[in-house]
Amino acid sequence: MVKIDNLVLSKRKTITLVVEADGSLTVRAPKGLSRKRIQAVVDEKAGWIAEKQAVAQRLKPPLRRYEAGEMLLFLGQEYPLLRPEGESCRVTFDGKRFLMPAGCADPVGACEAWYRAAARRVLQERVAKLASQHGFTYKKLRISGARTRWGSCSTSGTLSFTWRLVMAPPAAVDYVVLHELAHIDHPNHSPAFWQRVGELVPDYKDQLKWFHQHGAALRL
Ligand SMILES: [Zn+2]
Repeated sequence: MVKIDNLVLSKRKTITLVVEADGSLTVRAPKGLSRKRIQAVVDEKAGWIAEKQAVAQRLKPPLRRYEAGEMLLFLGQEYPLLRPEGESCRVTFDGKRFLMPAGCADPVGACEAWYRAAARRVLQERVAKLASQHGFTYKKLRISGARTRWGSCSTSGTLSFTWRLVMAPPAAVDYVVLHELAHIDHPNHSPAFWQRVGELVPDYKDQLKWFHQHGAALRL
């Protein structure tokens, strides 16, 4: 179900959808129409809305200034960033906080490098474990920088996941991994594919909802 951020009911005949610059969704609809009907119309446009929101997301100014005390996400938890003395751009994480030397001139690049390495480590472990647990064989694992696509599975059996995925909670990470593993047998989004996903991840609808609501926040 697509989240409607702002619903404006008035004396009008049609429904219009506007994705605002901040990515929020404004819906203008005729007064007499039921909420259910409005939601159904909006849900039909989910693909279009997601695309517009992805564009709005890309055009948004950066959220962070990488100052001490700002929070960074890792596996669904927020941890503070510290900027100790130093010049290098090597980010480290001690289990409680992120450390990035104060003199680092490329904080985004430095954080991305840390997330890429973390994603490789975490996803290698989760993919190997979940694949063996459910009897899947895959060729290789690739870490991408995709912004709105959390994972993909090529016909040759290469699984790709964006490094941003490790900002999400473990259950959401596992859902994406199992979704891509299910594509090994079903290279499509057919009912059979979703049935398989439902067997692998009984609460997959909650996970989809989670990504819908929080996906845009998985960014530097
Ligand atoms: Zn898919």
